[in-house]
Amino acid sequence: MAARLRLQNKVAIVTGAASGIGLETSLQFAAEGARVVLSDVNEAAVQKAAELVLKNFPTSEAIAVKADVSKEAEVAAVVDAAVAKFGRLDVMFNNAGIMHPADDDAVNTEEKIWDLTQAINVKGVWYGCKHAVLAMRKNKAEPEKGLGIGGSVINVASFVCKVGAATPQLAYTASKGAVLAMTRELAMVHAREGIRFNSLCPGPIKTPLLMDFLNTPEKLNRRMIHCPMGRFGEAVEQAKSVVFLASDDSSFVNGTDFMVDGGLIACY
Ligand code: NAD
Repeated sequence: MAARLRLQNKVAIVTGAASGIGLETSLQFAAEGARVVLSDVNEAAVQKAAELVLKNFPTSEAIAVKADVSKEAEVAAVVDAAVAKFGRLDVMFNNAGIMHPADDDAVNTEEKIWDLTQAINVKGVWYGCKHAVLAMRKNKAEPEKGLGIGGSVINVASFVCKVGAATPQLAYTASKGAVLAMTRELAMVHAREGIRFNSLCPGPIKTPLLMDFLNTPEKLNRRMIHCPMGRFGEAVEQAKSVVFLASDDSSFVNGTDFMVDGGLIACY
């Protein structure tokens, strides 16, 4: 008997899908049978990302929708597009996020950077959760298609809300702490509707976001010291964990701070 794909028939949205963790997760979602809505503020790049998904997985279904997650109407439009095209929403991966590459400590952080970081990393996740709940509440169980009730929402936090970062990134760290706290509460509030919420907490991952930040050998080495495996992670290593959290394999996993950090927060 052929192995069942883990996201067969599920409809998934990925925000920040044009690059890094979001792009790899879109590919893994398609590989596992999901119909994928790729969304990003960068319209040209997200269009290319959707084309890459379709090229790699010719029998998959994927569309691109431009949206800035800090604007509620645009997030609502992404969810509407998913439901209009594919009929339902099962998985919401609230992944879009920014980290300002300049030193960002208590003294030097600029208010406009602080506000922008919270608008995208915190408010953007809230909007994604809100509109996912509104759509997922309408889901009906179809066990013969492998569809349970509710859905799975995965919000991207970071290891930096578990341990202090030696390279300053204060606005970012504060925003990711808010994501963790918000996700736990949502997991409790919506548990009996069958909607699960988990935080993904990546360690340092080789993506443009991290490499733009660790832009000197000193900063890079300062971060690498804390990596027990002696390397940064790959985006695909996050994506494979997101597939687990999105799938029914994780049906009793709810409200977790899901660490995918190569052991970083276990390091003394
Ligand atoms: P990335 O820069 O490669 O990708 C981020 C994507 O988000 C980009 O395509 C960008 O265009 C998009 N984006 C930015 N602002 C947006 C907005 N307002 N609306 C919609 N899309 C927007 O970065 P990444 O490393 O893949 O980051 C993905 C997530 O993982 C982020 O939330 C980040 O904070 C988190 N994270 C990354 C690391 C790491 O080391 N790379 C570690 C922990 C957490």
